[in-house]
This record gives sequence, structure tokens and C-alpha cells, in this order.
Amino acid sequence: MGQGLEKMPTLYIVPTPIGNLEDITLRALRVLHESTLIAAEDTRTTRKLLARYEIDTPLTSYHEHNKLTKLDAVLAALDTGDVALVSDAGTPGISDPGYELVQVALARDIPVVPLPGPSAVITALVASGLPTDRFVFVGFLPRKSGALRKALADLAAERGTLIAYESPNRLVDTLAAVLDVLGERPVAVARELTKLYEEVQRGPVSDVLAHYRQTPPKGEITLVIGGAVEDATDQPWDADRVCETLRAHLDAGETRSAAARAVAEASGWARRDVYDLDVD
Ligand code: SAM
Repeated sequence: MGQGLEKMPTLYIVPTPIGNLEDITLRALRVLHESTLIAAEDTRTTRKLLARYEIDTPLTSYHEHNKLTKLDAVLAALDTGDVALVSDAGTPGISDPGYELVQVALARDIPVVPLPGPSAVITALVASGLPTDRFVFVGFLPRKSGALRKALADLAAERGTLIAYESPNRLVDTLAAVLDVLGERPVAVARELTKLYEEVQRGPVSDVLAHYRQTPPKGEITLVIGGAVEDATDQPWDADRVCETLRAHLDAGETRSAAARAVAEASGWARRDVYDLDVD
């Protein structure tokens, strides 16, 4: 700061670990220490992190259910000092509260300073082995089957790598929908990143689906899906593609009837013709 220039109270966006408590930057610790107030998604979770680093800055809750009613209180705190926004894990604003606060702060000419740091989306992408030069983050996919399939169909022509947050009890259904709607694609399921049981399952979606049907997943999951290749989604399906997709469905444990119905729907072929294909 130059002489005579007073620093304006600032809203800091502070990423926190997604599992391993060592994954926090020196700058994040300093900002948490020096701020007047920390607005935290869950004050109990953040208190544990602060205790580990002996930081005793006051906390207030700022979560999904009070993020609008709490705006005035956080803005009032910004009249007198810096506020650090943190979520339970990772980067605030990424499938977590933050966007509204940033928007209102900017509208009031309050400086917003983002700190780089952990986020499951980028950590999973770089571990996936899938192209990183272009990607689309879709947050949490819809839970209901029809809406999920529609969301995937809307993404079918997207060439960038797709990344979604997913819950362990929906993963198998989501992978089955990916296979149905997008066909056989490479995927990576990044589970428990940075934690003791970290694992990344990579492979064709049918293999990964078969794996998780056998071994139901636990923990936190980020799903990475290869983007569309060439113009495959615009072309009529040839017999090879239909056979390959049918085989993938059967390998994933579906009955021949269910597999034929799904592949017929995706390819535009008649169900009977798909059913009769010789793929065993
Ligand atoms: N703001 C966070 C971020 O930047 O990563 C994401 C918050 S979102 C509510 C939480 C979801 O992120 C989890 O349900 C899971 O899908 C994903 N996630 C969080 N931690 C993870 C981890 N350690 N490994 C894999 N996925 C994780």
C-alpha cells in the first residue's frame, strides 16, 4: 500500500481443503487470520480448520438457506473490515454459496479478491487422463431419470470434457444413463480425492459401470466424461456402432431386452433389429 492510501475493506474468496487439511495456502491462512470476520458455510467445519492453524477470527454462518437474508449482515461487516468467505470444502461459489455475495459486493464497488486453491472439479479433471484443454462443468446433474437423460442429451454434441459432482448412491444410475444417452465413452470416477481412500477409476463407461455395480461406491465423487468425438452424434448409427453399444450394455449386466430398448432409442434403429443382432 502506498503512503496515505488506505486499503478498502475487501471480500476475500478463500478456498479450503477438499479432504487433506494440508491443502491450504499460506496466503489463505494469512487472510483468514487477518480478516475481521469469516463467513462460513458450516461454522463447525470451519472451526476445526481454524483450530488446526490456531486462527481465532470470529465466524458467522453463510449457507444455502440464509445466503440471501445474511447478505446485509456480511455487507455491514465489510463497512469496517475484510471478510473472508469460505465453504465447507473447496472453492466458494462452485456448487456452493458465494455467487450472490460476489455479485452484490461488486455492485457496491467493494473489492473482491479471489484466492486460488483446491476445488474438486479441477483436481478430478487433471487426474482423469481426459483432455483438459476444453471442459464443461455442469455442477450436480438432475436426480430424476427423465431430467438427467435430457441434461445428458443436451450435452451430447459437446466436444469438451464434461465434469459433474455426483453422490455415491446415484453414481450407478448416472453411469447407466451416460451409457444409454451418450454411448460408450471414456470416463473417470474420482472418489475421495486427497483423502485416505482416494481412488480414480478410469475406463470405458460400461467397464466403470460394471465395476461400481459390483462394488457400490462410498464417499465424495466427481465424475469426468469424455466429450463428443468428431461428428459421431450427428451421423446415423452404422451396424458397428449399434453392435458395440449393445455389447457395452450387455457387458454392464443389462438384460437383452432392456439393452435393445435403450440402444434402439439412442440409435433410431428398430428395437427388434437391435435385439436380433449377433453380438455374443
Ligand atoms: N465448492 C466445492 C469445490 O470447489 O470443489 C464443491 C462443493 S459441492 C457441494 C461438493 C461436491 O464436490 C461433492 O458432493 C462431490 O461431488 C465433490 N467433491 C468434494 N470433495 C471431493 C473429493 N474429495 N473427491 C471427489 N469429489 C469431491
